Amino acid sequence: MTRSAVHNNGIGGDSRVLFFDEIAEGNLANVLVVGAGGVGSVAVHKMAMLPDIFSNITLASRRLGPCEDVQKAVSARTGKSISIAQLDADNVAETVALIDKVQPELVVNLALPYQDLAIMDACLETGVHYLDTANYEPRDEAKFEYHWQWAYQERFAAKGLMALLGSGFDPGVTNVFTAYTQKHLVGEMQTLDILDCNGGDHGQAFATNFNPEINIREVTAPARHWQDGAWVETPALSHKQRFDFPEVGERDMYLMYHEELESLSKHYPELQRARFWMTFGEAYLKHLEVLQNIGMTSIEPVTYEGREIVPLQFLKAVLPNPGDLGETTTGKTCIGTIVSGQHNGRPRTVYLYNICDHEACFAEVGSQAVSYTTGVPAMIGAALMLDGTWMRAGVFNLEQLDPDPFMAMLNAHGLPWQHIDLPAMPEFDAC
Ligand code: NDP
Repeated sequence: MTRSAVHNNGIGGDSRVLFFDEIAEGNLANVLVVGAGGVGSVAVHKMAMLPDIFSNITLASRRLGPCEDVQKAVSARTGKSISIAQLDADNVAETVALIDKVQPELVVNLALPYQDLAIMDACLETGVHYLDTANYEPRDEAKFEYHWQWAYQERFAAKGLMALLGSGFDPGVTNVFTAYTQKHLVGEMQTLDILDCNGGDHGQAFATNFNPEINIREVTAPARHWQDGAWVETPALSHKQRFDFPEVGERDMYLMYHEELESLSKHYPELQRARFWMTFGEAYLKHLEVLQNIGMTSIEPVTYEGREIVPLQFLKAVLPNPGDLGETTTGKTCIGTIVSGQHNGRPRTVYLYNICDHEACFAEVGSQAVSYTTGVPAMIGAALMLDGTWMRAGVFNLEQLDPDPFMAMLNAHGLPWQHIDLPAMPEFDAC
């Protein structure tokens, strides 16, 4: 086992700060992954396939059982042994104690958005780098915004630590696609549309393909898009467009708010408009409407038989576990960005996308494509931090870093991309 030296950072005694040059010189890294759900399982599988970078992997989660399942699956598929631990990551002291025991260089947070700030606090206290795939959300309000995490900028920078925010697919790859488009394809961007299509079929009457509580909070929130320097809010699921997705076919997609719009509109002020669209089938929307109408998607606690329960959390408990959908899911996802603007003095519109096949993902790592398309970019972000390519002090969204090495790793690790020129911005300008 190789690990960094212990350095005194002058704040509260010895703590582990892996200096960037040590990582770049090829020290093998020790990583702590928090969250043994669908995304955590994929990320750990993919890390185990890269032992030259991820020499030691510890997976910790609220319950030990799911960690044991991932441990067995990873060992059977890759021959790599990983360590496991039980952890309530809402509890900063517990996370600090585990970090002290495991001594990781990086904590990869694949638990839920509620844990982001507590895990960032534990990283600051112990001098360890941080990565996640979803921005912080308070439990009692469906409000996913970056300002809480951006506020950690000075504290991470002062300690020479890096926090990489949103290294999944969307946010994550879509941010990198935008940065790559601006760097190579459409130098002067004017409009951005992010299109997220899951053309898969899981064979269930109603299920979400990632954590149901987070998914339903996201889908039922009002839509918001960026237009001429301000947010425009419209009722949830009120704008629909039909689009012909490569290798999937025609699907209805709906205007939504999605967290990467916040960082992309900040980092690319030249964007006159930025929107996010997601496809939903009729059956999904019908079930969702009924569940909403009867109050089952509410996050307001109700008292039942003397005990407070949150309807949405109860609903999560009775819905299929997204991690178990892999075996029955067929079809493909197609997620990408359409950017229009000017390139070398000429108008240009470019569609950059990835196609991912649910069954191929299941054959490789035992998970469906939604977990796969999130877990692979989490592994790539972690690898680029640990090998020094992206490592720097402070809090970053992915579009702030050089997109080229990330794009190369997507091609090499299961998420190949392509781009096509479109004759013009497609006709979905209803808003
Ligand atoms: P899951 O619900 O499948 O997994 C979450 C895991 O975190 C579970 O193992 C859960 O344990 C564990 N967990 C929950 N609370 C705690 C806690 N307090 N301490 C320790 N572990 C805890 O979710 P997914 O794997 O689908 O999603 C993981 C993350 O990825 C989420 O934040 C989600 O929003 C994000 N995501 C990002 C995407 C992107 O493209 N950027 C796309 C999809 C997801 P238990 O089961 O015991 O509760």
